[in-house]
Order: sequence, then structure tokens, then C-alpha cells
Amino acid sequence: MLRAPLGLLGGTFDPIHMGHIQPALAARDAIGLRELRLLPNRLPPHRALPHCSAQQRLTMVRLAAAEFGLTVDERELHRHKPSWTVDTLEELRRELPDTPLCFLMGMDSLLSLPTWHRWQRLLELAHLVVSVRPGWDHKVAGETLQILLAEHETHTPEALRNTLAGHIWFSANAPLALSATDIRALLATGNDPGELLPQSVAEYIRQHGLYVGKRDAHDIIRAPR
Ligand code: ATP
Repeated sequence: MLRAPLGLLGGTFDPIHMGHIQPALAARDAIGLRELRLLPNRLPPHRALPHCSAQQRLTMVRLAAAEFGLTVDERELHRHKPSWTVDTLEELRRELPDTPLCFLMGMDSLLSLPTWHRWQRLLELAHLVVSVRPGWDHKVAGETLQILLAEHETHTPEALRNTLAGHIWFSANAPLALSATDIRALLATGNDPGELLPQSVAEYIRQHGLYVGKRDAHDIIRAPR
């Protein structure tokens, strides 16, 4: 008998915003996740270094988790090497042998999947739950990904509860055209992101004057892992 699935959302969270949280909550409800864990990464592979320190990003992730009833897994922050998702999933699979793992990601991340470290292994360890993200469409996926989808896509969230790993499910969340890059740009120019951020995170950013006056010259590359 399998346990109810665990949901995992990895990210740089620089800062964490509602584009991370809303799709994750929608997936939690649709799948019946027993827990939704945020996995902040320390050294994201293939992208520029974060603006805020690991400690500041972790504090914001903890605040958001408390506000929305999520949990935080800090293991990637304690690693002194790139945060390969596959390493984290290998560890979690060993720790939770009878729990389906649902790794949540936005459509942009799915499209970059074939560039991730040991990406073929990911579906042996977890299911992938993919959120709609404006500007990204899996119909433009390359051949490798099309083949992967043909083999692994499921249309029913029950499939994620009944097997440990191996399915890809597209979640029908309300699209939110929002990125941390957008939030940083607003804050850098003194604008208030309002409800695009969890209230507690907005308050922390205000108190500590984070991102103010810092333009994003190096935020060119999106974040495959
Ligand atoms: P940046 O703008 O700094 O690249 P980001 O907003 O894309 O950051 P990340 O921390 O890189 O945020 O993303 C973590 C995960 O959340 C990724 O899987 C990404 O696809 C997903 N995600 C981020 N924003 C959204 C959104 N608006 N809708 C759906 N998924 C999202």
C-alpha cells in the first residue's frame, strides 16, 4: 500500500512569489498531496548567481511556507556543489520508499528538461507535475521531449497516487504571468509588487531593503536544473 504523494517544488526563489505558490497549491489539491515541500537551491546550475544570499532566500521561503501551510527542505542549501535535482530525488527515494514523489515545475522547466543532469533518471524516481506558465507551450518541445511525453504523460492525477514515479501530468492551474526577474525589476525601481508576493515576504523585503536599486544585468539565462 503506497502512502499519499509528497509534492516537491525546487527553485532559486530569489524571491519566492505567487507564481511559485499558486500553481503548487492547485496541484496539491488536485493530486491530494500529503505535504508540499519547498526545496531552495544553493548554487543553481546553468544560471547566474542569485542576488540574495542563501540565508535571505531561505528566510523568505520559510516565511512563505508558514503563510501557506507548506514545508521547507533545506538539504540543497547545505550542499557545496551544484543543486542537481536528481541527487535530491535519489536521497528522497531512499528515505521514503513507499511514497510517490511529485516534482512540480513550470512549463519553462519542462522544456529545458533534456539539459538537466542525468535527466533520464528523474522519471524513475518521481512523477513530474507541470504547471501552465504564460509564454511557454509544450507543443514547441523538441523531439526528445515529445517522445518522453508520448511515453509518460497521464491525464489522471490518480495515476500519481497509484505509482511511485514515472508519469508526467499537466496541471490545469490558472496561468500567472510572473517571474522572480519581474519582481526584482519592480523592486529595483522602487515599485511595490503588491499581491504578487506573499505578504510576509513583501514585509521582509521592505524591512531589509532587498533588491532596491539593483538592476538585473546578468539575468539572461533561464533556470534548467
Ligand atoms: P527567475 O525569473 O529568477 O528565473 P523564476 O520566477 O522562474 O525565477 P525559479 O525559482 O527559477 O523562479 O522557479 C522555480 C520553479 O517555479 C520552476 O520550475 C519554474 O518553472 C516555476 N515557476 C516560476 N514562476 C512560475 C509561474 N509564474 N507559473 C508557473 N510556474 C512557475
